[in-house]
Amino acid sequence: MHDETRMLLTRTAPQTLLTGSRAVAKGRPSLRLSGKSSDGLARLARHFNAVASTLRQRTRALHDALERLEAIQHDAMHDSLTGLPNHALFIERLRQALAQQDRDAHFRSAVLAVNLERFHLINDSYSYATGNHLLCHIAQHFVDRLRSGDIIARLGADQFAILLRGVASTDEALQISRQLIELPGFTAPGAHQPLQIKCRAGLAMSDGTADAETLLRDADNALQAARGSESDPIQVFQASMYARMLTTLTLETDLRRALAERTLSVAYQPIVRLFDQRIASFEALVRWQHPLRGQISPDVFIPLAESLGLIHELGMFVLHRACLDILTWQRQTGPDAPPVSINLSARQLARATLARELLDTILGHGLTPERLRFEVTESLLTHSSGQNIETLHILHDAGITVLIDDFGTGYSALSYLHTLPCDIVKLDGSFVGPVATDDRPRAVVRHSIGLAHDLGMAVVAECIEKEDQLHTLRDIGCDFGQGNLFSKPLSANEACRLLHDDNGAR
Ligand code: C2E
Ligand code: MG
Ligand code: MG
Repeated sequence: MHDETRMLLTRTAPQTLLTGSRAVAKGRPSLRLSGKSSDGLARLARHFNAVASTLRQRTRALHDALERLEAIQHDAMHDSLTGLPNHALFIERLRQALAQQDRDAHFRSAVLAVNLERFHLINDSYSYATGNHLLCHIAQHFVDRLRSGDIIARLGADQFAILLRGVASTDEALQISRQLIELPGFTAPGAHQPLQIKCRAGLAMSDGTADAETLLRDADNALQAARGSESDPIQVFQASMYARMLTTLTLETDLRRALAERTLSVAYQPIVRLFDQRIASFEALVRWQHPLRGQISPDVFIPLAESLGLIHELGMFVLHRACLDILTWQRQTGPDAPPVSINLSARQLARATLARELLDTILGHGLTPERLRFEVTESLLTHSSGQNIETLHILHDAGITVLIDDFGTGYSALSYLHTLPCDIVKLDGSFVGPVATDDRPRAVVRHSIGLAHDLGMAVVAECIEKEDQLHTLRDIGCDFGQGNLFSKPLSANEACRLLHDDNGAR
């Protein structure tokens, strides 16, 4: 304590100080002294009041800081859009529920992971504001229907988790879940009619051993299964789902590594002219030789690459590799080495810069655009945005041949064909298989070939495996063929040798 203050205090009437300190305790500190008080006492009073005022300010600042801290803590535990608990708070509450089960084995809990199906379409078709509006209403809808003690959290853009506390059985949890995920139509600004959102959900029951994170992960695994289910939008977690998820996870890590280390390879399958079976072009097909699992089919890892956002990198790798191999073939067999077609995936085609990137790569290798072709699947074009078609137009105008792959498997194929900047259609193997033996697919193939020719397009038949298929297709006017009858997909060196032989046969 300040020396002067201490001296004054010892001379001050104890009663006055007592009154002043009581006032401080009540939060209204102000010490008033009578006219008879000495100067010293007046100074003490001033000093006392100054200290009390500082105390008051500090108390207020502390109070404000506490309020701010509470707000920060609230924000850290809640979703800013809907105000619902977030992942951290959900896990905390789930832990509490599981602790209750430790004390009372009959008190079981369940976690329901809920996803709003194709919600991104709302954002894409309307606006983010509409999407946000809808999310808040859906969140409120869930909250209104929760049983007392249950909680719901928002875990991601369109993903929620619900904790069902105290459920007797999986059947009971399922019944509650079914009612919860049944959504009515919601009105939203910008939408002229109520928007119908459907949910998919995964349910995991606590078994007394799984911790909170595991239970939530299990519910999420069940949700993944529900996403792929045709029959039931809710799936209950089973151990096999976890094993499947682990497989996908390790495959995911391995695919990332294979791409980074460039250990994928490209095989080339010849496309031949049917009338003389000479090589007209090649199709580039990506290959992945996994160090432990052997060859993995593109039908497995292409969708994986798409879902991981790696497909463009993969596609550019294939294009780059094909450009280098064409240059080698040109050096070894002459400048007229046949063109190579590259498959483009739906995700790639949605890139606004794709055409430029493809052309830059081709020209950057010193190749002319007609050396490369691009295949896009039919289904991709029926659901096409303006961007897809725009990209194809740019490529086509630059002199690149565009092929429609798997023709006949999409919808309304014939009705839009004339609108596409396309030069060649590739008839899907499912028509080619029975073409020699079954009248109906033969009729479809014949008419498809006729239509393509009328539109100035050539036709390739895929997956030709037998002589009778080749003869039938040739008889009904098909131009080109691809399939194991002519050659399986080959390495770049094998393809080069085949080209030598083909040139020698000229
Ligand atoms: P796709 O583009 O329709 O390729 C033709 C598929 O048919 C290839 O399967 C080829 O090996 C197979 N095939 C060829 N001849 C025959 C035959 O006579 N009989 C049978 N049963 N099959 C035959 P693959 O290589 O397994 O590729 C499957 C699909 O994966 C491709 O279908 C394509 O959609 C996709 N894919 C392959 N490589 C790439 C790539 O580099 N990028 C992208 N985006 N997709 C690719
Ligand atoms: Mg293809
Ligand atoms: Mg195909």
